[in-house]
Parts: sequence; structure tokens; C-alpha cells
Amino acid sequence: MQQHWKILVWLLGGVILGIAFQQLTAAPGYIGSSFSEGEAGTATVVVGNVSRNLKPKGRSDSEALQKGDVISRVILNAGMEDEVRLDKIENLSSLTDFLSEVGAGGVVSIILEDGTVRSSQVILDPQSDRSRWLYPFVFLADIFMRLLKMLIMPLVFTSIVTGVAGLGGGEDFGRLGRRTFGYYVTTSFLAVGLGLVLVNLIRPGEGAQLGLSTQAEFGQASENWLDILRRMVPENVFEAFTGNGNMLQVIFFALLFGFFITRAPEKPRKFLTELLDSAFQVVMLMASWVMKLVPYGVFCLLVKVVGETGFDIFIPLSTYMLTVFLALVIHAGVVLPILLRVVGGVSPLKWFRAMSPVLMTAFSTSSSSLTLPTTLNTLKKRGRVSTKTSSFVAPLGATVNMDGTALYECIGVVFLAQYYASTGDFDLTFGSQVTVVMAAFLASIGAAGIPSAGLIMMLTILSALKLPLEGAALLLAVDRPLDMCRTMVNVWSDTVGSAIVASKEGETGLGEFKDSATGEAA
Ligand code: ASP
Repeated sequence: MQQHWKILVWLLGGVILGIAFQQLTAAPGYIGSSFSEGEAGTATVVVGNVSRNLKPKGRSDSEALQKGDVISRVILNAGMEDEVRLDKIENLSSLTDFLSEVGAGGVVSIILEDGTVRSSQVILDPQSDRSRWLYPFVFLADIFMRLLKMLIMPLVFTSIVTGVAGLGGGEDFGRLGRRTFGYYVTTSFLAVGLGLVLVNLIRPGEGAQLGLSTQAEFGQASENWLDILRRMVPENVFEAFTGNGNMLQVIFFALLFGFFITRAPEKPRKFLTELLDSAFQVVMLMASWVMKLVPYGVFCLLVKVVGETGFDIFIPLSTYMLTVFLALVIHAGVVLPILLRVVGGVSPLKWFRAMSPVLMTAFSTSSSSLTLPTTLNTLKKRGRVSTKTSSFVAPLGATVNMDGTALYECIGVVFLAQYYASTGDFDLTFGSQVTVVMAAFLASIGAAGIPSAGLIMMLTILSALKLPLEGAALLLAVDRPLDMCRTMVNVWSDTVGSAIVASKEGETGLGEFKDSATGEAA
């Protein structure tokens, strides 16, 4: 069986088994904290041990639930139709009774005495039957993810350095760089623009029953946009190599290192080029080996994701989700294919078929970086893109070019802004929409290629608009399926970019993807 069919069959098998687990076993929720009575005679309940940090996603540990915090209220699924509140906590058992009904997948918000909110998604109780059934799949999925993670840093470094060094530092480098970045910027802005148009046409936020209070927690400008640029320059390269989240720093160093190899005297130039090129070839061999595991890895990941998630939560946010899906479909199914055909002269359908293993890996892992080994391998073997082009365009794209994330940021923020505007507390001016466009573009560059990175970047945009960050906790509940889909669009755009750049570079390997009529016209 051809590999893409094999992956698809296993992927669907994973979804079916995940649904079976959903139907056959209960999913008790777990928030990871214990509670105890407060000081004698005060009728308060305080936080006991905290084994899982309950804090808004992407926020610092100081904002997590702490031992000894006094709890005043608890809300489950705040702002959604199935919201349940416990406004008066009479004693410890009233709280534990309430929490015992909480199922996995929802969002719990604990409101402390001083009004601060700690929200987080409720996870599946690790002691439950369902967790035990899922354990073998979770274990294997983790091993698969670790194998992919293991390859990211060596791949990014060796591929970019050999890519840039191979270009010789002269006009070739400049041209490829201009084409690549030109493509990234164009498609990201097209994506944000599309998101903005759709969210303004559909207006999912207007009149939505979100019940978020605007007095909650107002955003502080937590990040200066220039910080994204500042953080790109590593203070210590070796430190940068130690975290998969520091990809922009590694890319920055690799681009410079590759460039200066071309400027070095012959001896070190030859030595380093051969050394890194050999290392790259070996890492790519490892990537092809891991590729063989993709169908089974995808299967385990989907059993895990579907088995651990509740779907009821999606209903109240369905218009918002549909807006994001629609924008993703139009961008991936219309905008990018038009570019691919018109600018690259490549048949979108044939290219889609060739790249399908990449798309399915992206869908299951929710991570562009984890997909990179598959992307490079598939571009080379199935797409026949030269290493010179793919090793430059794909690793950069995995971190910098995120069209799906860009449009998602825009829709998510405007959705919340529409909601706050329709409840009368916020003015969604033209100026603020322009801010959203710029911020969504930058956020898509700054977001790491890891799961939920886009949601975390959204906090920054909400802060910039001075909108309460509480809204992002609501979007957390439905983030996983949207993340899977936007990651797929992110890497689809990277592969389309590779094809367009390869075609413009006059590569002949792409011949079989060109339908001659358009091929000649392009
Ligand atoms: N998960 C996405 C990616 O890796 C980033 C995001 O959360 O939007 O491409």
C-alpha cells in the first residue's frame, strides 16, 4: 500500500478507537490540587497540595494556584452554555462534591479571595479506567513524539548551515532568501487578511453568550513586539540548543554560521562543509527511518487525543470554530493552490497527493517542528525538491511561516473583541483591527512550532489591545482540534513555498507535478 494511504487508514483507525473509548468508559476530570478547610472558625477553603500547575496557559508560575490560596468561587466552563457555578463555598465537602462532577475536557476557573482567576483545562483523571486503557497508546505516542523531537535540533542546524553554505554566500543566497521571505510574508498577510474579512462577515463574537466579565483581569502589555526580534539573537548558542522552543535563535545562528563558512579560507570551509553535510545526510537517514513509524505513531496519537477529549464543549463555540475552519479551508484549498499553479506552475492536486504524509503528520502532532523530519524527507523523496532549496525553505518555514496560525490569531482576537464590543465595554475601532493584523502577522512568526503555541501568542495580542486575558482560557477548551488543522495549513504552506521557490530556481525534478499547459505558461 502506498504510504499516504497507509497513514490515512491508521489515522482513521485511531479516531475510531478513540471514539470507542469515549463511548465505553467514563472520563472523570482531574485538576491536580487538593483542598482543605481554612483556619478554624473561618468557614474558608484553601488550596492544599498542588501537583498540577493550575494557571492560565502561557503565564508564569507566579500566576499559578498556590498552596494556601483562599478560594471564593469556582466556575466550570465559564461563559459557555453549560456553565456551572459554585458561588458560595460553605465547607470543604461542598467544593469537593462540585469538583467530583467535573469531567475531563472542560475549563475550570478558580476565583480567589482577591478576585484573581486561575483557569485551566480539566484533564482526564490519571487514576481512571479510561486512563489505564489509554496508557499503552499514550506511551507509544510519547515515544514517537520523542523520536521526532530528538531529530529537530540536529536537522534544523545541519540543514540550514549546509543549505546556506551550499549557496555560496553570493547572489544565489540573496535570491533564494528574497524569494523565500517574499513568499512567507505574502502568504501570511493573505491569511491574516482572509481571517479578518471572514470574522467581520460572520461576526461570531457578536451577541455570543460568553458571560465573560470585563472586570476580570485586564491585560497588561506583557511583551513588547520588538522583543520577538531581540530574542532572536541568542546570548548563548549552547543554551539555545538545549530547548526546542528556541528555534528562532538556532536558525539565526545557523544562518550566520552557514554564511560565514562561505567567507572562510578554503581549509576550514571545505572541512566544515563536508562535516556538516555528512552530518545532515546521516540525520536525514535517521529521519527516513522514523518516517516508517509515522502510520503507527499517528494511530497512537489519535487514540490519545480523541480518547482524552470531550466533544460537548465544542458546541457553544461552534460558530467561532466554523469561522476558523472556513478560513483555513479557503486559504489552503483556494489561495495557496492558485499561487502554486500560477507562480510555480505546479498542479496543486498532484502536489497535495505527494505531500499528504506531511499533512497527516502535522494533523496528528499539532506541531510544525515535530513534522519537520517528515517534511524534509517527503520534499526530497516524493516532491523531488533539491536539498539546496528544501533544506533552506522548510526548516525556516516550520518556525517562521505559519499561515494557519496567522489567520487563527486574527479570528480569535477579533472574535473576543466583537464579544466585548457587543457587551458595550470595548470599542473595536478600525485602528485596533490594523493592530490585530500586524500583531497576528508577528505572532505567527514568533510562535514556536509546538502545540498550542498560537494560543499562547494570542495572549500577547489581547494584552496589546488591552482586552481581558480571561477570554483566551475559553478558547483553550477548543484549541486542540483547531491546532491540528492550523498546523496542517502551516506545513502545507511550507511545502507549497518549497515547490514555488524550487520551480523559480529552475529545478527540473518537479517536472512530474507540472501539467504541461500551465507549466509552460508559468
Ligand atoms: N501548533 C502550531 C504549529 O506548530 C502553532 C500554533 O499553535 O498555532 O505550527
